[in-house]
Amino acid sequence: MAVVVTGAAGFIGRQVVATLRRLGREVVGIDRRAWVPAPGERSVVADLAERDPLVDRVLHDADGVIHLAACPGVRDRRPDIAVRRWRDNVVAGTRVLETTPAATPVVVASSSSVYGGAGPALRPRPCRETDTLAPLGGYAWSKTALEQRAAARAADGGLVGVARPFTVAGEGQRPDMAIATWIDALLGGRTIVLFGSGARRRDITDVRDVADGLVRMLDRRVTATVNLGTGVTHPLDEVVALVAQRCGVEPRVQVAQVAAEDVPATRADVETCRRLLGFVPTTDLPALIDRQVRATVVARPRMSWRVLPRRASLPATRPPARSSRIEGVLPGR
Ligand code: NAD
Repeated sequence: MAVVVTGAAGFIGRQVVATLRRLGREVVGIDRRAWVPAPGERSVVADLAERDPLVDRVLHDADGVIHLAACPGVRDRRPDIAVRRWRDNVVAGTRVLETTPAATPVVVASSSSVYGGAGPALRPRPCRETDTLAPLGGYAWSKTALEQRAAARAADGGLVGVARPFTVAGEGQRPDMAIATWIDALLGGRTIVLFGSGARRRDITDVRDVADGLVRMLDRRVTATVNLGTGVTHPLDEVVALVAQRCGVEPRVQVAQVAAEDVPATRADVETCRRLLGFVPTTDLPALIDRQVRATVVARPRMSWRVLPRRASLPATRPPARSSRIEGVLPGR
């Protein structure tokens, strides 16, 4: 018997699989993107929106399911984005919820976006799981629809918990997410694009805490909705400054127009998490950004970027290759 993780090749999925493996659990990952499974993992490459007997069998036999597969991101403007979101967030999610036996615990990843923000950036209020939802934009609506499908499973006597992660950061962050794009731009000597203003605030959660929270929800058979956030918000200016400092460059920032769904602030109320999961995520932002920058450098050693201060050095784990155009990066911590 194994835990099934959907979206296992993704940013959070990879951390969840790693967390489960550290706990000695067997894992079957399902993703339509191929990836190389480590020992103790099995990979099933399949599209969850399509009928597939192998997927059905894997879900039937599961010890528990953590459902992460989705078309994420509030800012996606591809012409067919509405169809993608419906297919990957609602159709695929419904299939997982309906195929997994009622007595098997399922945890589905929703999103903090269902709250429609935490009010003005100057005084963000903590969003509670019992708040009336106010989704803004197609992504948030698709997650709201997924939550409704989860509620239908619960009403039919099925085990299901809903996780609402708040902006997740750390190694392997999706390349379209703000911190990843900023690191990419700064290491490549380009201008950062900042949507709206640097006064906007985000509750930024460490991907390791999110993975831990999702596994705790599964293991404790939580049948509630739980925010996975820290309760602390950071202005984007602070995040940009930290990223620039870790990359060792002066940032050039271009402010771009922000869409309505890209809300002024997010902030989690953490009491349900504390009560049901026995912990509250805490983010050491400088350390988290340091990890993400280092992971980016290690993953892409041939990337070229600007000359950095003399005292700067690469992470000890991977010295710069002669053939690379790296000239120095990352002030040591
Ligand atoms: P990701 O894009 O890195 O991972 C999602 C994975 O799902 C991808 O590997 C993709 O190939 C797979 N996938 C998508 N549709 C599929 C389908 N139909 N069949 C099979 N595989 C499919 O995204 P992520 O950032 O790791 O997010 C994971 C989950 O957490 C998503 O549900 C997302 O909405 C949610 N979430 C993420 C954040 C965040 O800050 N990253 C915040 C809140 C909620």
